[in-house]
Amino acid sequence: NVETIAPPPSNTAKPQQQKKKKEKLSALCKTPPSIVRTRNGRDYRRGNFLGEGGFARCFQMKDSSGQIYAAKTVAKASIKNEKTKTKLLSEIKIHKSLKHANIVNFIDCFEDDVNVYILLEICPNQSLMELLKTRKRVSEPEVRFFMVQIVGAIKYLHSRRVIHRDLKLGNIFFDPDMNLKIGDFGLATVLPSNSTRKYTICGTPNYIAPEVLGGKNTGHSFEVDVWAIGIMMYALLVGKPPFQAKDVQVIYERIKKTEYGFPEDKPISDSAKALIKDLLSLNPIHRPTIDEILSYEWFKGPFPEKTHELSLNGTPSGLD
Ligand code: ADP
Repeated sequence: NVETIAPPPSNTAKPQQQKKKKEKLSALCKTPPSIVRTRNGRDYRRGNFLGEGGFARCFQMKDSSGQIYAAKTVAKASIKNEKTKTKLLSEIKIHKSLKHANIVNFIDCFEDDVNVYILLEICPNQSLMELLKTRKRVSEPEVRFFMVQIVGAIKYLHSRRVIHRDLKLGNIFFDPDMNLKIGDFGLATVLPSNSTRKYTICGTPNYIAPEVLGGKNTGHSFEVDVWAIGIMMYALLVGKPPFQAKDVQVIYERIKKTEYGFPEDKPISDSAKALIKDLLSLNPIHRPTIDEILSYEWFKGPFPEKTHELSLNGTPSGLD
């Protein structure tokens, strides 16, 4: 358990020693020990490196029964200030409280001298981002299948007053059975009441809702997740996010004016366009709520039986 994340030790050594210590610490943090023992005596064996984000590195971890997990590993040396510490504790608290078939399951959390470990259900088949990279575009039946799972998970989050705030293709993973699991609760927040608004500017450029860019004036709420669902649906069907540009400022200008189109050489159905148009409404109150999304006409179209692993390497498993 991680109620106490000790701050990094204060440094009183000389500059040269300090540098060496820093290098050693950095090397240690990059590769956590091969065996991690928890406070209650359980041993986990570290396996392959899985990936890294802005904050954490992820490794496979095996328990003594051979069960494999993903360990999100955060170096204590990187938890420099109170704000970062509070953010990590908040991510842990929120993620720990969630249980849903389409949310990465939180297993345990522990620490040693150098790292904090968040043990998660393993998602060995990467994320929707890698799927889109290999497939370029995804068929409508498959996207429909993915959307039902994503909307179900967000419905659960919103019913518990949790806003994810960083929904994007790279944060939606495949489990071994190719079911989708939403992960990374690093920017999630719990609203004290349904009418509370949040004012922190956060998210990932291509996925940020216009009211988040409005910052202090407007505030934001659950509708930012609905906006991000619209971005993901568009990206999967068209092949790239709607406001994509090299320059981040250009992306923000386009978002603020909802300046996007549907390319003629990548046709999608009218019912898909109608749903995307509503999800990407400039005014958040004009967007459907998470409970309304599945009633759209587009969801009456065909579904694949099951997305199997073939869909990862270029063979669509949809029906069209
Ligand atoms: P950060 O908070 O630093 O952005 P993430 O939660 O996005 O960290 O995780 C970083 C990377 O670790 C991901 O991009 C992915 O490659 C890998 N990863 C995260 N969670 C899992 C998981 N449950 N199973 C497998 N790999 C994972």
